[in-house]
Amino acid sequence: MKTPDFLVLGSGLAGLSFAALMAKAGRSVRLIEAHEFPGGYGHSFVLANKYKFNAQLHYAWDCRPGEPVHRLLEALGIADEISFDFFDSAGFDRMRAPGIELDVPFDYQLLSQRLCDLFPSHKSNIQAFIRLIPWTGRSLNRYGGSMRKSGVGDKAIAFAKLRKYLRATLQDVFDEHNLPLEASLALLHVTAESRLFLCMGGTSAWLSLRSL
Ligand SMILES: Cc1cc2nc3c(=O)[nH]c(=O)nc-3n(C[C@H](O)[C@H](O)[C@H](O)COP(=O)(O)OP(=O)(O)OC[C@H]3O[C@@H](n4cnc5c(N)ncnc54)[C@H](O)[C@@H]3O)c2cc1C
Repeated sequence: MKTPDFLVLGSGLAGLSFAALMAKAGRSVRLIEAHEFPGGYGHSFVLANKYKFNAQLHYAWDCRPGEPVHRLLEALGIADEISFDFFDSAGFDRMRAPGIELDVPFDYQLLSQRLCDLFPSHKSNIQAFIRLIPWTGRSLNRYGGSMRKSGVGDKAIAFAKLRKYLRATLQDVFDEHNLPLEASLALLHVTAESRLFLCMGGTSAWLSLRSL
């Protein structure tokens, strides 16, 4: 068998994106997957012949023209074939638990307000945590962004700021902000929308998209 230019282990979003880009660029790629389905966390499966579940991935961000996902699709020549729908900006997730009703909006100020209404005695900690969400996103954009847009100096500054959180778990960040368990549960899901899912192991796929 001919030796490929690239051997990619794992067909998750990171492996698939890289393999597809290299193949599109005319390089030979061998992609090896241990599971019976491709896609990693991005695959879906059916139970009882009728219920379809996402393994993990249920939202996509940065899909508009000029943004990383769109640029990836453009680079692969398939941007016109794939369209995206917006979730409800007033409450794209609806969380219901005893004593907690939270519709998660796009807007961070509104989110902060709703969470502070739910947990008034933790207002300042919640506000500090919510401020961290777009901050992490901006820093990751600069750190993972293309060299054309962010130079080495920009990346070094972003890395210095992010360093504190690169090895942190989400629980570490909750603890740092001294959040009560109930607020942490509500925020657990919200942080997936933030770039804080960096703390949960999504960095490789995300940064590979960012560096396009
Ligand atoms: C609960 C949860 C919800 C999430 N929701 C979202 C969301 O809504 N939107 C979003 O953008 N991101 C979401 N993420 C993050 C997203 O799922 C991951 O960032 C992304 O799927 C990671 O892709 P990956 O290619 O790095 O790894 P993976 O998806 O883990 O893929 C790795 C692949 O490698 C294979 N593999 C491993 N070892 C070997 C080996 N030795 N040989 C061959 N194959 C191997 C595995 O079987 C797997 O298929 C979520 C994550 C979690 C935990």
